[in-house]
Amino acid sequence: MRIAVCVKQIPDPATPYELSPDTHRVVRPNDQVLDDTDRFGVEVGLQLAEEDDGSVTLYSMSPSGSLQGIRQALAMGADKAVIIDDPNLAGSDALTTARVLAASIEREGFDLVIAGTESTDGYTGVVPQQIAEILDVPSLTFARKVEATDGAIRIEQQTAGGYDVVEAPLPAVLSVTSGVVEPRYPTFKGIMQAKKKPIETLTAEDLGFSADQVGDTGAGQAISSVSVIPAREAGEIVEDDGEGYLRIVALLEQAKVI
Ligand SMILES: Cc1cc2nc3c(=O)[nH]c(=O)nc-3n(C[C@H](O)[C@H](O)[C@H](O)COP(=O)(O)OP(=O)(O)OC[C@H]3O[C@@H](n4cnc5c(N)ncnc54)[C@H](O)[C@@H]3O)c2cc1C
Repeated sequence: MRIAVCVKQIPDPATPYELSPDTHRVVRPNDQVLDDTDRFGVEVGLQLAEEDDGSVTLYSMSPSGSLQGIRQALAMGADKAVIIDDPNLAGSDALTTARVLAASIEREGFDLVIAGTESTDGYTGVVPQQIAEILDVPSLTFARKVEATDGAIRIEQQTAGGYDVVEAPLPAVLSVTSGVVEPRYPTFKGIMQAKKKPIETLTAEDLGFSADQVGDTGAGQAISSVSVIPAREAGEIVEDDGEGYLRIVALLEQAKVI
């Protein structure tokens, strides 16, 4: 099975995000990390590939930077990576991202595309389904369990009330929930091998997109303003001198919850 796994490089969530005062966009440092959501997609891809001697190719649309995030996923065991790095892509919305990723995946060929249900930074949660629509293949979303059957994929799709069993023939697109599998930790050998694994870098033009079809210009929306969320007011500590409940009831009435 030829498995394409979409992986996002994001600023390390442990460090506070910086927004550019000019573009209102997240400032992307040179060292970005693998979006934690995508570790699950990589692991599902590796397990399915191990079942039938398949291959796992990573696809990422982001500034290359130090490629730290990509090497993390290669160290887990993916075979190679395709990164679409082009300054014209800055400011791309989710739909443009999906179009660019779909074009790069179609160029290589695929049987299964895997992505996270939603990223950690933008979390629009629409890219996997958009890729499926653009590639004109079925999408199996919110998978909490994945099984490859003869020429098809069967999932337990997480729902509010539990799960549904959904199946579709390959080729298809799959989005996985965090927790679908236990992602492996890269071994020292894996980390060393990742340094030599092929990473192909493409531009938007290589994929047939002109500059005005991507980035800010190609986006269906523009950020008009960004404002800092006001700090939350400190709560009230109710000392219970035996009648503390009266103050609680008064606060609940004030908040119109009783
Ligand atoms: C704070 C913030 C807010 C944003 N708000 C919006 C918005 O309201 N509308 C909008 O259209 N765009 C928005 N964007 C831009 C959007 O985040 C990017 O276009 C992004 O690349 C795709 O969207 P997502 O991460 O929200 O995708 P999601 O659909 O949440 O991502 C799901 C999965 O798709 C794959 N994926 C997503 N992006 C990439 C990528 N670049 N490379 C490889 N795989 C990827 C990953 O597997 C990921 O787990 C925002 C970005 C930020 C940082």
